[in-house]
Amino acid sequence: VVSEFCFTLYHDVYATPNFLGHIFKVIAYGFLFRGVVLRGLRAPYDSIFAELQKSAVRDSLTGLYNRFGFLQIAQREMDAAAGKPGALIGVLMADLDKFKHVNDTFGHLAGDCVLVQFARILTASVGPADTVARLGGDEFVILLPGADGEKASTVADIIRQQMRAWTQQSETAAGLDVSIGMAPWMPDIGGDLDTLLREADDAMYKEKESKRTQTAPAGPGPE
Ligand code: GH3
Ligand code: MG
Repeated sequence: VVSEFCFTLYHDVYATPNFLGHIFKVIAYGFLFRGVVLRGLRAPYDSIFAELQKSAVRDSLTGLYNRFGFLQIAQREMDAAAGKPGALIGVLMADLDKFKHVNDTFGHLAGDCVLVQFARILTASVGPADTVARLGGDEFVILLPGADGEKASTVADIIRQQMRAWTQQSETAAGLDVSIGMAPWMPDIGGDLDTLLREADDAMYKEKESKRTQTAPAGPGPE
């Protein structure tokens, strides 16, 4: 507008209004470039890119980190702890028991709701520095930076308590239980991330197996 106004005062090619008009025109083009190119064209691209980045590391059902996101965070924590003597990291692996029964009885949508509620329980049971992730299906993992075995089992106990409270008052979740395996990591003696997760997984399956053995109908006794 200012440049147009200057050009209306134009009476000579070398006059000041003409010169100012050109200056204001350049400034106006700068604003147009910012508005149209940077905001109008780049902003949608940036938001799509941010959305893609988020969906690459998040589980769409629960909103928790997915396996890929968790591996990145866990590796970062282990690298940061590597140089610190006395640093500790605890990992909890949690898998629902008999979850398929929920899908079979109440349908897949109800099963989804159970997974979302279980994710909420896990998130509510940990601190802000801890990371909860869904590895897939009904298998979840928790990274507890700085946690020794005692702290990790306290978190596991809180999850079990919350689980009991939930299954007692929910028709869909009634009969569900959770198996939790624990594995500790220390910079000097700990292995790599794969080994840590495998140890937590093995411990979780041990608990699952022991529950199965306990609830299995007794075979014929000795003659
Ligand atoms: P276990 O006691 O041995 O853990 O058996 P389970 O019945 O809990 O079943 P398992 O852990 O072996 O497998 C998980 C099942 O969860 C398999 C699949 O049918 C179901 N599942 C996997 N992903 C989803 C999902 O996103 N939504 C729903 N509703 N079900 C899922
Ligand atoms: Mg299961």
